[in-house]
Amino acid sequence: MTHSDLPHDPAAFALWREAQDTRIRTRLGGVYYLLAWLLTWLFSNAPAEQLGAGLVGSALFALLLLLRLLHRLPAKDTPQALAVWIDRHWTLILATTLAWGLIHAWTLNHPQFANSWLIATLGTIAFSTALAFSFSMRRGRAILALLLLYLPGLAMLARHWEIQFATLITLAFYLSYLLLALNRSHQEYHNTLGLELKLLEQQQSLEQLSRTDSLTQLGNRYQFNSLFPVMVANAHRQNEPLSLVLLDIDFFKRINDEHGHACGDACLSAFAERMRQVFRRESDALLRLGGEEFGVLMPNTPLEQAKHLAESFRQELSRQGFSVQGNSLPLTASLGVGCFAPERDGSAEAFFKRVDAALYLAKDAGRNRLALA
Ligand code: GH3
Ligand code: MG
Ligand code: MG
Repeated sequence: MTHSDLPHDPAAFALWREAQDTRIRTRLGGVYYLLAWLLTWLFSNAPAEQLGAGLVGSALFALLLLLRLLHRLPAKDTPQALAVWIDRHWTLILATTLAWGLIHAWTLNHPQFANSWLIATLGTIAFSTALAFSFSMRRGRAILALLLLYLPGLAMLARHWEIQFATLITLAFYLSYLLLALNRSHQEYHNTLGLELKLLEQQQSLEQLSRTDSLTQLGNRYQFNSLFPVMVANAHRQNEPLSLVLLDIDFFKRINDEHGHACGDACLSAFAERMRQVFRRESDALLRLGGEEFGVLMPNTPLEQAKHLAESFRQELSRQGFSVQGNSLPLTASLGVGCFAPERDGSAEAFFKRVDAALYLAKDAGRNRLALA
């Protein structure tokens, strides 16, 4: 999965990460519950006499294992779908721990399993340890799972207090340790998740910065290069008009020469601000393509409409110029305007070249004018 496929909303990301972790960590466990039961049964005093119990237990853990494996992550990463998946998966985890807890207690109460009491008790210790460290993302549910694993066995040991008190006390101490370890593991999990979220946020803002021109706050050339082919492909597929306006400030070098570079910079910012006031549609992409060259990508906009807006921009600029740092500067721009025509422009590149050629026609014809591609 690439960075752009990850859910971007922090809450959705946290759920996505939790579901992934739960899925990975739960895969292994199911097999060991089945194995532990097979060992407990086959090393009991007389496994053949316990054939019925042995098979029922095996079938139960095999079924729980199968359900875990079949429970696939949702195809859509919506928070609702992820939350439902996590809840259902926890139901399976809790059902497995309850089944083991009861089976452990049952063997402790069954003299025919005396030979494998230790195996069953070791199973409880191993599963609860794994649980405390691997499923600590949800503290409440993990505590419940630990209690389901332990309490039936502890209750049975308490019934046979005279002979089992040493084991009971030891297990009770171990359970208290696991609860503390679970708490710590829970905090660590969420600290790591917090760091991961911060990193993701920083990646996103870096990505944003790398696509923005710092002087004008318009999209930069890099943004244009990634946006333009996608917009052209969309327009082609949906059979919608896509217009492109290219703007180049006339004799900009003179502004720099006569008023200084800082004044030139201020003009570029003011030019971008003017663009934002004229090309106002949400879907318009305003870009600084380099130096004093700008572009506007206008999806779903026919040539006439693009030309009308571009022409009103040009006229307004030529009438008002800019007032920068106390100087009133006359400023004009030349514009090329075109609309993507699939039968004519074989590619996005060809479309750009056609509009760029129109811009140069406008320059050649004396500047401060608009030429149609
Ligand atoms: P034309 O009408 O043919 O477009 O003439 P022009 O002077 O605008 O074009 P030319 O390409 O000869 O010069 C562009 C100038 O834009 C030269 C460069 O110093 C200036 N320029 C490019 N980027 C910046 C910038 O970020 N800040 C400033 N102040 N000037 C810039
Ligand atoms: Mg220029
Ligand atoms: Mg230029």
